[in-house]
Amino acid sequence: MLDYKELEKQGLAHGFSHVAPLDCSTIELMSEVRAMCEKNTCHRYGKCWSCPPGCGSLEECQKIIDAYQHGIIVQTVGELEDELDGETMMETEALHKEHFLSLEKELRKQYPKMRPISAGSCVKCKVCTYPDAPCRFPDEAFSSMEAYGMLVTQVCKANHMEYYYGPCTIAYTSCFLLE
Ligand code: SF4
Repeated sequence: MLDYKELEKQGLAHGFSHVAPLDCSTIELMSEVRAMCEKNTCHRYGKCWSCPPGCGSLEECQKIIDAYQHGIIVQTVGELEDELDGETMMETEALHKEHFLSLEKELRKQYPKMRPISAGSCVKCKVCTYPDAPCRFPDEAFSSMEAYGMLVTQVCKANHMEYYYGPCTIAYTSCFLLE
């Protein structure tokens, strides 16, 4: 069983605003989320092994998730000056990525087989090898929650974690499937 108190301490020390236990069996993968990826508003669809279609079908993603029981959800929350404060949104996103990569490094030593799932596409390599050559780091590459077909609000609600922290706030969410 995971030591959630210790994991929360670790997550907060790496800069996250909130850390909560994740029961992996509560995760629902939705074809509607995949359909949003296909619209390619983030311009990553078909550009990386960690994004659809390179990250596998929903059935393949489900099999990966089914291999885990316990994990954590991590969030970085930013305070905006107003609802159009794009600069703070981008800063918060960059901070969340930083927190994610540094915690990933530490957790990897404790849970070598863990599966990190981020708030964005894999950034391990400057240029992804997709689709010309296999992924350079198949055990360390990470997909986004959306790429797996997860709706962040569903995963948060099912695990008793807030997603919305009030007007003029922005929350970025990722998770680590640990064991
Ligand atoms: S580790 Fe490199 S090659 Fe693999 S998905 Fe990430 S960016 Fe692409």
